[in-house]
Order: sequence, then structure tokens, then C-alpha cells
Amino acid sequence: MAAPQSDHERRKQISVRGIAELEDVNQIKKTFNRHLHYTLVKDRNVSTLRDYYFALAHTVRDHLVGRWIRTQQHYYEKDPKRVYYLSLEYYMGRSLSNTMINVGIQSSCDEALYQLGLDIEELEDIEEDAGLGNGGLGRLAACFLDSMATLGMAAYGYGIRYEYGIFAQKIINGEQQEEPDDWLRFGNPWEKARPEYMLPVNFYGRVEDTPQGKKWVDTQVVFALPYDNPIPGYNNNVVNTLRLWSAKSPVQFDLKFFNDGDYIQAVLDRNLAENISRVLYPNDNFFEGKELRLKQEYFMVAATLQDIIRRFKAAKFGKRDPVRTNFDLFPDKVAIQLNDTHPSLAIPELMRILVDIEGLSWEKAWDVTVKTCAYTNHTVLPEALERWPTSMLESILPRHMQIIYHINHLHLEQVLKKWPGDMDKMRRLSLIEEDGEKRVNMANLSIVGSHAVNGVARIHSEIIKRDIFRDFYELTPEKFQNKTNGITPRRWLLMCNPGLADLISDKIGEDWIVHLDQLQQLKQWAKDANFQRAVMQVKQENKLKLAQMLEKDYGVKVNPSSLFDIQVKRLHEYKRQLLNCLHIITLYNRIKKNPNAKIVARTIMIGGKAAPGYYTAKKIIKLINSVANVVNNDPIVGDKLKVIYLENYRVTLAEKIIPAADLSEQISTAGTEASGTGNMKFMLNGALTIGTLDGANVEMAEEMGNENIFIFGMTVDEVEALQKKGYNAYDYYNANPELKQVIDQIQNGFFSPGNPDEFKDLADILLKWDRFLSLADYDAYIKAQDEVSRVYENQCKWLEMAIHNIASSGKFSSDRTIIDYGREIWGVEPNYNKLPAPHEPRE
Ligand SMILES: *Cc1c(COP(=O)(O)O)cnc(C)c1O
Repeated sequence: MAAPQSDHERRKQISVRGIAELEDVNQIKKTFNRHLHYTLVKDRNVSTLRDYYFALAHTVRDHLVGRWIRTQQHYYEKDPKRVYYLSLEYYMGRSLSNTMINVGIQSSCDEALYQLGLDIEELEDIEEDAGLGNGGLGRLAACFLDSMATLGMAAYGYGIRYEYGIFAQKIINGEQQEEPDDWLRFGNPWEKARPEYMLPVNFYGRVEDTPQGKKWVDTQVVFALPYDNPIPGYNNNVVNTLRLWSAKSPVQFDLKFFNDGDYIQAVLDRNLAENISRVLYPNDNFFEGKELRLKQEYFMVAATLQDIIRRFKAAKFGKRDPVRTNFDLFPDKVAIQLNDTHPSLAIPELMRILVDIEGLSWEKAWDVTVKTCAYTNHTVLPEALERWPTSMLESILPRHMQIIYHINHLHLEQVLKKWPGDMDKMRRLSLIEEDGEKRVNMANLSIVGSHAVNGVARIHSEIIKRDIFRDFYELTPEKFQNKTNGITPRRWLLMCNPGLADLISDKIGEDWIVHLDQLQQLKQWAKDANFQRAVMQVKQENKLKLAQMLEKDYGVKVNPSSLFDIQVKRLHEYKRQLLNCLHIITLYNRIKKNPNAKIVARTIMIGGKAAPGYYTAKKIIKLINSVANVVNNDPIVGDKLKVIYLENYRVTLAEKIIPAADLSEQISTAGTEASGTGNMKFMLNGALTIGTLDGANVEMAEEMGNENIFIFGMTVDEVEALQKKGYNAYDYYNANPELKQVIDQIQNGFFSPGNPDEFKDLADILLKWDRFLSLADYDAYIKAQDEVSRVYENQCKWLEMAIHNIASSGKFSSDRTIIDYGREIWGVEPNYNKLPAPHEPRE
């Protein structure tokens, strides 16, 4: 085997091929030293690694500034339709490496830092993740921003600048502990505060009837301070903006205390208002009806809509008319995409602005609102759907509650026209739920207030129409669409797996980076022994690098020639990490029963955060760690099986783990995972998939062919049939001795000798109340895993499948997803033209 290339050598090779010039390198060294001196106020005798990171970040940032300003000028000049992506989450991860790649200065920076005697990878590792998201939904928003910029769309992300992102997970004695994510502690070199664009947001108060219409008065004001974050497109000199709002107390926050002369108390209470942007709610696929969360949602929406309308009015569209006032044009100039229902108050807020402030008729305002807004649904799990109590809305947003009632009134008139006398249908289609505490169903509001509603994978979009939104589909079938999720190939291949990216570019050129379909060409080398060997070497290097990291950071030794079997994603019962655990225990029992049998060695890694209040998910983490403890310390097992819980799974860890995976676990109960995007990242990096026919797995199987994926278990129809018939886990438990042994071990404390009852509740769930039917899929899962091992023994076959699957992953680029949103929802086309670089003359 050839000596592995260092990343420095690899990047240098690209530079020979590409654009890196001596001049660039010298300029970057100069700028770096200037920033170390003037920005960091350090010399090299006292500089820390963090100082070097910041000096480099500022150097790279300098390359964004001219492009950023000119992109925004260009949008002002051309006045294209703007796309506004509204999301409570952006799971961005790190920016340094991604920015260097997208603006094309990676190899120059690498060489410059090398000449300065610094290790660029070591500096990259200093950067904190921007962890302003929980999982797939937040990461999707981040991939979309990259694609929209790369496709030259005039797009803006809007969200909240949480002071604390997703908590850091520590595993202590096998249990999850949460630590606050103080990600801004050392400062954020990428953001630019814009206090001059601060906007007021109102809460509470009451509604006054005046001759000029409704007035929302006596409100409490909180200011929204925008922070702009650059979103560079790939190699096109476009830099879009992600604008994140931070809560600021008004100068006179609490008049009561000021009037009482309690100046100190008044200053202290400014924190109350600023708590709105303090912390990300750490729930994935779960609705927690907390007042502060409702305030976050409205805060983001209210500030954003003011910004959108200001920009609409300020558009240059004829010199004689300096302010645009005709809102007929609004839907032609503005598209608003709601990432789940979290920003769905945008619908009543836009109505409030248009009717109460701009003086439009209700009918006109409604027409504008529906034409402008579109809603993406992300889950069918009932516990995840937002249903805010009307009492809470009435108190915090009294005018919005009135508007929602009026929307509902007119909507139900239409329903009654279509289905006269059908009270059941009325009840199911109402935005207001009346059983138990009166609530607003935000999904229903979002459907009624949007012209397009989409699911995030084909099967999910079908389930939406058939099940949860069935009545709405009957009412307005033309609204319902599918937009299968995707991932950005820049971060998830070019950046995180440079070895594989180079190999691909050597074969087919670099076009795949922006046209991922081009990977198809690789199919001709799927059986090529030389190409297989090269792909295997890259995978082996990636596995070795991960193994070294695991040993260095966690002190665990893994066998890098074992099969790396990986499940990383949020910890959730529906994702069935428990089913994975049942397989682990089964393998362990087989080894113990037959220690001399030849088996394929596996390193099984599971990682993911549990919501802090999710008791069962935390118990599952503890079980996995307890099983790991038994398995890893059993001398009979040796190198054949290792189990590792990957602590603190996040974007940056994903970038290190996924390129090293052999097997990707995507094993949710059919019908529960809306799409999944982790599945796509693994496919693109040459892991094979074991999975159910759920979410995007269905379309992945279609693209690669059933013979290249390990599909097992019940289909959605079979799940439904079983639930209808009545699921009895004991049927499976009693029928399969291997399964029975595994459950008994969990039940009787085999993995928790100090506390035999520790996992009784998990065994109980599996046997009595498992909504996700784990035992019904156990047998098929074990058989599929046996097949995985059998195929892995034939390395040629395995590599052929892996290469074929990489070559089949073009559909899962978020560029494709965004082009589809543009064409079918926003009325916006991609623009592949490059803007002139900052040093080039304008067009
Ligand atoms: C892609 C990604 C996810 C989503 O993974 P799924 O397997 O689709 O749930 C979650 N977390 C991180 C850090 C990711 O990068």
C-alpha cells in the first residue's frame, strides 16, 4: 500500500491543477500577520492556537467582504424575486474550511500556513460549531443556504441568534449529561452586528377598535438586533446573507421600576426581555408548549416580516416612484418558505401588517399572503405537531388570535359550502381544536395560509395526503407537493472527504461539485480493480484517522480493519437505536455460544443526543453504554466485536465519522422518518445502507437498485395492517429463542449487575408498549445483518456496490432539491452565471 498522502500534500496537488498562485500565498501570509498584529493584538511569541485561528478566520473573511457587498448591490440593481427561508434552526457547524473551499482559496491558505509553520487542520479544530439546530431539520436549512447561494438565487435565511446552541453531551458513567453550549465565548469572527437596522417587536397588550380599524396597543416592546452571516456560493462570487435576530431590551424597559426610583431593579430586569434569544429548545420531533418558545417564534417572524416589507418597499423599480406601495406585486417579488410550523405565525403577522398597517382589504391581504407563503411539513409524529393553547396566544398575541379566528371563520365557510352539514369534517378541518384545552393547530393554519404544502420525501408526501392532512388534501389537492430532501456535496463530500473527492475528480473532472448527477459516470469503474483499490485505500485512511481520533480523545482502541457499522442521529424511539442494540446483544451471544466460529469483525458505533427531558431516550443511551461495557471487556470477544457510544454527535463529528463508515444504519419504523438526510451523507461517502423502506431510503433504493442496499422489515402498509390487527410483541418474543434471550438479558440485569432493575422499563416497553414495533422487525433485521457480513467478506463485491452507490447519489444533492423548490413553489430559476470577482470590473 502506498504511503497515505498528507492533507497538505493533497491540497497542494489541487493547487497545482487549480489557481493557487505564489502571489496569493504571499498575500495571505501578509494579511494573516496583519490580523495577528492589528486584530488580535499579539506577536508570535505570545500567540495561542486560538489567536492563529482567529487571524486565519479574519484573513478568510476579508475575501468574503467585497463579494458580499457586491452580491447585495447586484440584487438591488437587478431586483429579482427574493426567496426568504424562515427557520427556527440553522445547524451550520463550522465556517472556516467551507468558506476557503467555496471562495477557492483553500490551497493557498494551506500553503501560506504551512510556510508560517502552522498546521491548518489544528487551527480548524479550534472553531466552535454554530450549533443552532437539533438535527435533520436544522441541518437541512444550512444545506439549503449553501445550495441557494451556489445556484445564484437572491435568497435570505432568517432565524434567531441563540446565545446557547444545542447542548454539549457528556457521557458520564454511561449516562448523558448536558452542558450549556457557550459558543460565542471567544467571539464569532463570521457575523456582523447591524444595530442600525434594529426593529421593535410587540408582545401582550390589547386590541382597540378604532374608526381606522383594529389597533394593537399597550404592548411590551422588545428590540430585535440583526447579526448578518455570510453564505458564500461555490466558486461563483455570490455571498448571500443569513440574518439572525438577537433580543435587546429597549432603553426604558420597565417604567414601573424607573418611576419607583428602583433604577438597579430596572436594569437587572432588562435580562427578562433578552432571554428570548438566550437558548435553543433542545427537542427534536417534539412539541413543548412553553411560553418562551412561542415568544421566540413570534420574535423571529415579526422582525423578519418587517425586514422583508422594508426591502420590498425600498426596491429600485422606477426612478419616479421611490417607495413601492402596490402590494399586488408582493407575491411576484417575495417568496416565504416556512421550515415546519415553527415560523407559521408569519401568516397571521403578514395579514396584520397588510390589513391593520398597510390598509389593504382582508380579501386582498389574504390573496397576497397565500400566494407568498409555502409550508414544509417535517414529521407525521403527533407529539411533534405544534398546537398552541388559545389562552396563551390571546395573552401574548391578542390581535393574532383574532386574525386566526377570522381566517378560520372564512375557511370553515368554504368547507361548509363544499360539504354542507358535515360537522365531523368541519371539526377535522378547523384550525381550532376544541376537545380538551382549546388550541390552534399550527399545521392546519399553515396549510390554509399557504399556496404550497410539501413533504420531504416521496413516501412522506404520500402519507401526508393519505393520513394526517387527508381532509385538507380533499379540500385543496393542488397545494400538495413533494420535495425530497438533499445535502450539499460541498460540505458532505468535497470538504469532509478530500481523499474521495480527489479520486472522483481525477476520473471525471470537477463538474460533479455543482452537478452531482455527473457522478453517474463513475459506474463504468465500479468493477475496475484499480479504482476499487483506490476507493478502498481512501476508506481505509479515513477509518484509520477516525480510529486515531477515538483513541486520542476517548482512549478506546478499535480494530481499523473491522466493519465500521454506524448509527448517528438524534436519539429517538422511532429511530430504533434499541433495535440496533438488540442486534449487538445477539452478536455477543453468538460469540459467547460459539467462540471459535469465524465471524466478520465489527465495530458498532452509535451516537446522538437525547432531549434532556426524554426519559426513555436517555435510558437507551445508558443501555447501549452498559452493553458496550460488557462486550468490550469480555476476553472471549476480543477483536471480533466492539461497541462505542460516540459522545456529543454534532455537525463537526459527522464530518469525521461519515467518511469512515462501511455500513449506515437507517432502521426507523416504516412511516415514521419523514426523509432522513444522514442516510444520504453516508451513501455519498461510500457506505452501504441497511434500512427499512422509510423516508428517503425508498428513493435511495430506487436510484441504486434493490440489489445494492440491505432493505429489511415491514413496509408502511404492513405496519398499518399489523397495528390494525393488534401488535403483540410476545408473539415474536416467544417464537425466536435468540430474541427471547436478548430481551431476558435486558430484563434480568445481565448488563446492569449492580442494579438488576436498571433496564426493566426498556424491556417492558419492547414487550408491551412499543409504538415502533421493534420486535416485529427483529428477525428480518438480524437476517439482513447476516447478509451484510456475508457480502463484506467479498471485498470486491462490497467495493463494487459502494462505488455504484456513490455514482447513484446525484439525486440527493440539495442543489436538485432547491432547483425543484425554485421551479415548483417559488417561481425562481437557478442562475449559473458567475458574478465578477471583487478585483474584476463590473459587468
Ligand atoms: C445530517 C445530520 C442529522 C440528520 O440525521 P438523520 O439520520 O437524517 O436523522 C442530524 N444531526 C447532524 C449533526 C447531522 O449532520
